[in-house]
Amino acid sequence: AQEIETHFIDALKNNEFKLYLQPKIDIETGKLIGAEALSRWYYKNEKLLPPMEYIPRLESTGLIVELDLHMFEALCKNIRLSYDSKFVGHVPVSINLSRNQKDFEGYINKLESIRQKYDIPPNLIEIEITESTFTENVAEIKKLINYIHKFGYRVAMDDFGSGYSNLSALVECGFDIIKLDKSLCADNASDKRSYILEAVINMCNKIGMKVICEGVETKEQAANLLRLGCRSAQGYLYDKPLPVNEFVNKYMEEEK
Ligand code: C2E
Ligand code: MG
Ligand code: MG
Repeated sequence: AQEIETHFIDALKNNEFKLYLQPKIDIETGKLIGAEALSRWYYKNEKLLPPMEYIPRLESTGLIVELDLHMFEALCKNIRLSYDSKFVGHVPVSINLSRNQKDFEGYINKLESIRQKYDIPPNLIEIEITESTFTENVAEIKKLINYIHKFGYRVAMDDFGSGYSNLSALVECGFDIIKLDKSLCADNASDKRSYILEAVINMCNKIGMKVICEGVETKEQAANLLRLGCRSAQGYLYDKPLPVNEFVNKYMEEEK
């Protein structure tokens, strides 16, 4: 664990962190509607570390901010490159906002200057905030979301249903999108989790909040979501997170 910190700065310089994108899919049409940016660490270019092995550690030491800015720059670079090489079919990409930051607004300002540097349309950027970041302080999250909205980015609540989900906070805070946690994914109507899914999806549809389900692994789960009124999904049924080049090759086209 100590090694993670001492090697981290060199790892950034050596480009050991790789940008991966996982597609978000319209269940009905099978078409690409978005992507989530996730990182992978090729530690000393020897072994692949999954996020769970370094994100919590980087979060507790505050180094996560450096990683996230580095990954955001990589993302913007790639989007700019795909515009310049005349690719079409750009979709919004979401990034994960880490908790335990002292200055969220300062962080958003840094994202904004990177976005401007690469001239990326702000409506292509979504910021995912996980439930546990804000259960403690609704007023603060509300303020943060307002701040983020000023720049034209959309905000998603990540992993809804994995913890102490608070519906009123969800509505009050001004999230644009809600991401249902994979633990809510149910195969059919007789699964009790379907009642929760149905209630949340109905509410979102009524108040005009977009809803997407994560961790969709089976056709049954996708069909059940569609039946309940949720058209969007992310999960292994469609694709795992892919290295950015593979993602572009598979999901985007060059203009003819
Ligand atoms: P998350 O934001 O909830 O991302 C979704 C996670 O679910 C990803 O795990 C993804 O690989 C996984 N997943 C996708 N489809 C399926 C599926 O069908 N079944 C199952 N069982 N899992 C699926 P991953 O990539 O291991 O990332 C874990 C968490 O680490 C992410 O959860 C995110 O919160 C965080 N994370 C990853 N990369 C970064 C990063 O660069 N910066 C920050 N701040 N957080 C990151
Ligand atoms: Mg996420
Ligand atoms: Mg999630």
